Amino acid sequence: DWGPAPENRAEADAWLDAHARTFGHFIGGKRWKPGETFATVNPATGEALAQVTQGTEDDVTAAVKAARKAQKAWAAASDHDRARVLYAIARGLQKHARLFAVLEVLDTGKPIREARDIDVALAARHFYHHAGHAALRGETLPGAAPWGVCGQIVPWNFPLLMLSWKVAPALAMGNAVVLKPAEWTPLTALAFADICQQAGVPPGVVNIVTGDGATGAALAAAEIDKLAFTGSTEVGRVLRRETAGRGIGLTLELGGKSPYIVFEDADIDGAVEGLVDAIWFNGGQVCCAGSRLLVQEGIAEDFQRRLIARMAKIRVGDPLDKAVDMGALVHAEQKARVEAMLAQTSGTVHRGVAPEGCYLPPILVSDLHSADPLMQEEVFGPVLAMTTFRTPAEAVQLANDTTYGLAASVWSQDIDMALDTAPRIDAGVVWVNGTNMLDAAAPFGGMKESGFGREGGIAGLHAYLRPEAGAALAEPKRY
Ligand code: NAD
Repeated sequence: DWGPAPENRAEADAWLDAHARTFGHFIGGKRWKPGETFATVNPATGEALAQVTQGTEDDVTAAVKAARKAQKAWAAASDHDRARVLYAIARGLQKHARLFAVLEVLDTGKPIREARDIDVALAARHFYHHAGHAALRGETLPGAAPWGVCGQIVPWNFPLLMLSWKVAPALAMGNAVVLKPAEWTPLTALAFADICQQAGVPPGVVNIVTGDGATGAALAAAEIDKLAFTGSTEVGRVLRRETAGRGIGLTLELGGKSPYIVFEDADIDGAVEGLVDAIWFNGGQVCCAGSRLLVQEGIAEDFQRRLIARMAKIRVGDPLDKAVDMGALVHAEQKARVEAMLAQTSGTVHRGVAPEGCYLPPILVSDLHSADPLMQEEVFGPVLAMTTFRTPAEAVQLANDTTYGLAASVWSQDIDMALDTAPRIDAGVVWVNGTNMLDAAAPFGGMKESGFGREGGIAGLHAYLRPEAGAALAEPKRY
């Protein structure tokens, strides 16, 4: 039992105090003296949690140099040595699960239940999974050669989990990394530095440089061998131009506007419940959020009625409270962005209930046309846009009527039709009668403007190997 709010934050406060609530970068296995700093704020209360260093070009250069110095020995270490370190990281995350979960809640505003059962749990699992792959590298990926030094830039919606998606495969394949967390949510990456020290990660193999977009731009421009980015499509475009012609690797995990298709014969209660997870998980601040609801006409009225009744039961409030379903939005700026998009809509807006402050209730906007900005643009908030369709062909056409292609959900009791529909949707992953099923063994990534490259699975390992290594894999192994 993690205790009631707010006592459950004592350990996180003690950790922050132990660092005098002021952080420098983690470079070459050491915490650096803080430079010029900015505050990271708890969106639920407005309190400044800590001061964090704004990384300069020189800081980035120093981190890349430290990574370069450490990488060759790390790649040359025996596979089981690397596996042991990754395993120790996974154990470390589990041992300090409460610290990481509460820090994540304080920094992002997400509910403690999610941080505990999803963010931290899946991050640990990601390291366990890749510990296995580190040990198997020579066997499953013959001739595998790591890129070398990888720059990694992550967003604010799943700070620790996105870090683990980046760091675990990179290390497993023998790379060294310089990771930049998002400026709104740097704390769990800074706490991860402790785990690296305790797990015996050799100095320089993992470096954390904090800062804003300018720090990210400096990292992208630095002498790295590969860049892995998760964030907005807008910045993804900039990074594609920045890295073009430099011969370095690039993977982009970008935005989405994922369709959630409900056919007439679907299990309606199941589909309503799935939707709660698809769009109101982490307040809709999820790249693969099922943010476009497409319902077959015959059931649309009934479905909408049941959905609105379910929305009224979603509890929005103090993210440290275990009974809460939806916490605060990550930042007042994000709330303002969502509200500005809502103000433009011509659809009918249905709202649940939320407290004052940096909160929004679950929101459904119905009676929309597919061309409406709410159906086309990523909101990254708790807003579900709804329209209807008549035939399966129209469902597919509407599903694909977007510039994005990250994920999709198809709900039907007719499994033949569901399996016929799924591959016709342009999306990196399609869930049938489910949503948000993420696993380290399954590759995740986008089509169209949702990016390219995969994280997770064997494809995710290839992203951290030079392409020559992929060619080696295509050769059948002879015994
Ligand atoms: P963002 O693109 O503004 O920022 C992401 C990261 O990039 C941050 O660390 C930021 O500091 C950095 N950055 C900003 N400008 C930069 C620049 N010019 N050069 C280099 N780095 C720069 O995105 P965000 O608002 O933090 O995150 C939300 C976005 O992330 C959404 O669009 C969401 O869909 C996407 N996302 C995608 C996935 C996925 O797996 N596809 C997962 C999570 C989030």
